[in-house]
Amino acid sequence: MTSATPAVHQVSDERGDEVLEQIWEAFEAARAKDGRERDEVPFAAGSAEVREGLERLIASGQVTLSGTGGVRLTAPGREAAIRLIRRHRLAERLLVDVLDLTGEIIEEYACRVEHLVHQGLEDGICTLLGHPEVCPHGKPIPPGACCRAAKHEVGQLVVKLVEMRPGQKGSIAYLNAQDQTRLNKLLAMGILPGAELELKRRSPSFVFQVGYSQFAVDEHVAAAVFVRLER
Ligand SMILES: [Zn+2]
Ligand SMILES: [Zn+2]
Repeated sequence: MTSATPAVHQVSDERGDEVLEQIWEAFEAARAKDGRERDEVPFAAGSAEVREGLERLIASGQVTLSGTGGVRLTAPGREAAIRLIRRHRLAERLLVDVLDLTGEIIEEYACRVEHLVHQGLEDGICTLLGHPEVCPHGKPIPPGACCRAAKHEVGQLVVKLVEMRPGQKGSIAYLNAQDQTRLNKLLAMGILPGAELELKRRSPSFVFQVGYSQFAVDEHVAAAVFVRLER
C-alpha cells in the first residue's frame, strides 16, 4: 500500500485562503452550538469561486472531503487556517483600534490588510495592540508566540493615555486622532511617536510631560495618544 499523503504546497493562494477561513469559521460555528470539537463540518461550495478554492485546498493537501459531504482539515490545513484567522482578526483589530474604522468597511479592508500582515510582522502588530484575545466581532484571535511570552508580563503593553495612572511612564506608541485638527495640534506640540512621556495628573485636565515640556490637554485630545508602557 502506498502512502496517500499529498504534498503540501506553500504557495499563497488567495482564493484557497478565503475558503480555508470559511471552513475554519464553519468549525467555530459548529463548536459554538454545543462546545463539542468536531473532526468534520458540513460545507457546501455555493459558488464556482468557492468550489475552485476548495479544490485547490484539496490539491494542496490542506483539506479532505468526508464521504458525507463534510470537510476535514489536515494538520497542515489546520495550521494554515489558524495563521490566516489570526492575521485576519489582528488586521480587524488594527483597523478598529488604530485607524478607528467602524462598520462594514472593516470587513472590506481586513481582507486586504491581512495579506499585508506577513508572518513576522503579525507578532509585532499583536504586541502593539496588547495581544488582543478577540476580534472586534468578539471572535477569538488564535494566540501567537508573542502572546504566550507576554502571559508572564503584567497588563497590556500599549495603553491609552487616558487609562494611565499619574506617575506612569512610557513612550508614545502612536496617535489615533479621528480629525486632522486634533492630530495637527498634537504634532505641533511635539507629541510624536517614540517620545518619552510621563503622566502627571488626570484632572481637571490631563497633564503630562514630554521631554522638558509639560502639556495640559482635555480628555478629547488625550484620548488620541497611545503609550507603550515602561516595564
Ligand atoms: Zn472579526
Ligand atoms: Zn501576541
